Amino acid sequence: MRRRVDVSTSRPVERLRGRAGQKQRKRRLARTRGLCERCLARGLTRLADVVDHVVPLALGGSDDDQNTRNLCEPCHLEVTAEQFGFASIGKGVDANGRPLLSDHPWNARGGTGGGSKV
Ligand SMILES: [Zn+2]
Repeated sequence: MRRRVDVSTSRPVERLRGRAGQKQRKRRLARTRGLCERCLARGLTRLADVVDHVVPLALGGSDDDQNTRNLCEPCHLEVTAEQFGFASIGKGVDANGRPLLSDHPWNARGGTGGGSKV
């Protein structure tokens, strides 16, 4: 699911920097007690590394609290890849750290056999 933003109606957003930015980040992370919202939704407990913008500032999103969510680094990489249309995320792993390639040894079931397929 991807949201579209009418960039023509929104002005470029300047995010808070310095002390004000740190305070804002701390307050936002406190909303989920410092945990990743996406992992929480899946029953996982992982510390959030990033306060992410749901609609990226680069795509005309606002810097309001309602437009932010707390994410761990794997989740952040994943949603960023989705938002900006990359085929796969940076390190080739999913949010659980499992390799995405189907022929990766971790994803192979049973023995490889090494023989020919009929
Ligand atoms: Zn996460």
